Amino acid sequence: VIIDIDARKKAEEALAASNKRLAEQSLLDGLTGIANRRRFDETLTREYRRHARGGALLSLVILDIDHFKAFNDRYGHLQGDACLRRVAGVLRQNAARAGDLVARYGGEEFACILAETDAPTAAALAERLRQAVADLDIPHEASPTACRVTVSCGTATARCLPGGSPLDLLARADAQLYRAKAAGRDQASAERCPA
Ligand code: GH3
Ligand code: MG
Ligand code: MG
Repeated sequence: VIIDIDARKKAEEALAASNKRLAEQSLLDGLTGIANRRRFDETLTREYRRHARGGALLSLVILDIDHFKAFNDRYGHLQGDACLRRVAGVLRQNAARAGDLVARYGGEEFACILAETDAPTAAALAERLRQAVADLDIPHEASPTACRVTVSCGTATARCLPGGSPLDLLARADAQLYRAKAAGRDQASAERCPA
């Protein structure tokens, strides 16, 4: 009986460990190893609520690799995948404060949640991320913007409201990303009169 209970306890522990591993994996992007879209959405909703209670400013940076379709066409999808991994790595290294979360938002787009961060600080971080990607100096012969891989970034900041939603913050960061693209790419754009 003792051996039986012992074996059952071991099996239960193994199952619990395996469940924990699966739960962690379900929140990670398989290609880059950073947080995936699901973790991003969950964290943003949770952080928005927390900031609404505490009254601090919440910032968001959205980044998109410039002319990445042309990169794939020129160097192939395997090199494209390697490029995504290197960009993810440098973003994670440069947004590593306790309240920062860097995620792969989709395809060649990344997003950073910056807890308790005002607009000037978020804008400075976006510029640092842009520069860090340029400093990787990954050749991109097919880019009309530069001879290396570059990113465009959009930043927004919100004073969160009880009962509100982070969708407006996302849309505003996205609008700034669109502005950075339209203004020539390889740049970070932020609102002129932020929250
Ligand atoms: P823009 O400067 O306007 O952002 O142009 P773009 O070419 O980067 O944008 P577009 O949306 O036209 O193309 C995105 C490309 O990203 C196309 C798609 O094949 C590539 N992509 C998305 N996910 C992956 C991936 O996981 N691996 C690789 N290798 N490529 C990917
Ligand atoms: Mg894109
Ligand atoms: Mg792109």
